[in-house]
Amino acid sequence: MSDYGDHESTGDPLEKLRHSTAHLLAAAVTELYPEAKYGIGPAVQDGFYYDFDFGKPISESDLPAIESRMRRLAQADIPFEHEVLPRQRAMEEFQKRGQEFKLELIRDKVEGDEVSVYRTGQFLDLCRGPHVSSTKDLKAFKLLRVAGAYWRGDEKRPQLTRIYGTAWPTPKELDEYLKFLEEAAKRDHKKLGRDLKLFTVDDRVGPGLPLWLPDGATIRRELERFIVDEELARGYLHVRTPDVARLDLYRQSGHAQLYAEYMYPPMKFEDGEELELRPVNCPHHIVVYQTELRSYRDLPLRIAEIGNNWRYERSGTLAGMNRVRSFALNDAHIFCTPEQLMDEVRSAIDLALYFSKVLGIDEFWYQLSTRDDVKDKWLGDEAQWQEAQAALAEALESMGQPYKLVAGEAAFYGPKIDFQVYDAHRREFTNSTVQVDFQLPQRFDLEYVAEDGTRKRPVMVHRGAAGAMERLFSYLIERYAGAFPTWLHPTQVVITPIADAHLEFASEVAKRLRASRVRVHLDGRSERLDRKIRDAKLKKVPYVAVVGGKEVESGHVNVQNRAGEKSDMPLESFVSMISAEIAERRR
Ligand SMILES: [Zn+2]
Ligand SMILES: [Zn+2]
Repeated sequence: MSDYGDHESTGDPLEKLRHSTAHLLAAAVTELYPEAKYGIGPAVQDGFYYDFDFGKPISESDLPAIESRMRRLAQADIPFEHEVLPRQRAMEEFQKRGQEFKLELIRDKVEGDEVSVYRTGQFLDLCRGPHVSSTKDLKAFKLLRVAGAYWRGDEKRPQLTRIYGTAWPTPKELDEYLKFLEEAAKRDHKKLGRDLKLFTVDDRVGPGLPLWLPDGATIRRELERFIVDEELARGYLHVRTPDVARLDLYRQSGHAQLYAEYMYPPMKFEDGEELELRPVNCPHHIVVYQTELRSYRDLPLRIAEIGNNWRYERSGTLAGMNRVRSFALNDAHIFCTPEQLMDEVRSAIDLALYFSKVLGIDEFWYQLSTRDDVKDKWLGDEAQWQEAQAALAEALESMGQPYKLVAGEAAFYGPKIDFQVYDAHRREFTNSTVQVDFQLPQRFDLEYVAEDGTRKRPVMVHRGAAGAMERLFSYLIERYAGAFPTWLHPTQVVITPIADAHLEFASEVAKRLRASRVRVHLDGRSERLDRKIRDAKLKKVPYVAVVGGKEVESGHVNVQNRAGEKSDMPLESFVSMISAEIAERRR
């Protein structure tokens, strides 16, 4: 963005178009609401926003009027005029307009005596540009929604109304984007979570604390079994450790000092006890490591747990299952020698790749996050960081995996590799990570007995291969739009008897399938058959088995899959077919 906010303009033509549309929005708003004060209005992914103080809040029903005023201004062919004003002049201009936010930005952000502004007719904005040359270049835009946002992201400052919009070079591209949004809304995990009764969020429990309903809990159980079994097969040792610990444990780990903004306040008791909901699992696993003196023969030691973590995310950032205040992380801590580090990083990446393949995470990329030059942000010395960063980069390169390097996004204790994925709205998020840590072993004075009998310090790798269950679930709901693979679907088969006379055989079919651990729902309602089939389809059930007179006679089932393909087969054949599909976790 280019309006003296925090980002630099990249000069991308789409960004220029979108940021110019943000100016157009502010111009329309100041005409319609002369008292409105405008904050900042950057281009963002797929569009733009602008923050306003309207005095009293407006709603989405006010957007069409604003949008039509924008159209009128666009047709009027008003030039975007760049001016460089002396500081005092610029202050007077914004003073005259009563734009206190802009005055504050000039005071805080503009150095020197020259202030860059852009004029579109009556409207004036503090801005470095660049912009399109005229409002008539803005041909395809739409205002989408309003949201609350604090001035400069500070909860102590005024709350503003943020208007989001999108802008494209042509009406055709705008149409396509609006269709994409419509599709994404259908896949939205919050909507599907409600429609398919997978989870709920209730104010009495609190925001960011979703409740897994029976069908959602079934999917989670399947995911956890899959993950834990695979990890056990790969030499991980699974443990169970408590959700709380003494605050001192996090003082020792450094979280209490460096991670405090995400942690819950400690629970203080009369006897002086201070307990803390754990923000991470690492210290607990370190304590497990230290239950005995480890030898080089024990290494690498891979301690794993699907452990609950608690982080007090701001209420504005919470979203369904994707961003929550308590989540179960598919976590592990690998303790190894420096010589084993590379292999361990590689095998952690390999496991994450395997999970991605089975779960259907087809599109992802790696981000290698390293430290930047900000002082006091990172624990440990430069040389250790270099060593760890090199190990991660080399692991990725040796596996032929391309990656994006981002300085400044590392964890405070070490560099990391993030697996980045998209949600249905193509918003990027981190699904899993591999992090090298030279710091915690030092803070907890970890050691092992080396081959020569001396005590040495192990290296620690934090790794989440499938990520947090909540976030993974939100991803899978959107990925499959509810049509989960058979092994994950809460109801694998719906059995529908045609009439009451066929109920008995239908129960036998159900019993036989359940004996093979297939999840079955017997739909014994006295509804019409096509209605029952339609209901099963709405729930995206993989198989519907119809049982009528013919089936009772032959002992067969008439099975229909999600693609609508029908086949008639002996019950035992169906049992073997679906059992194999589940066991192999076919997609
Ligand atoms: Zn601008
Ligand atoms: Zn950890």
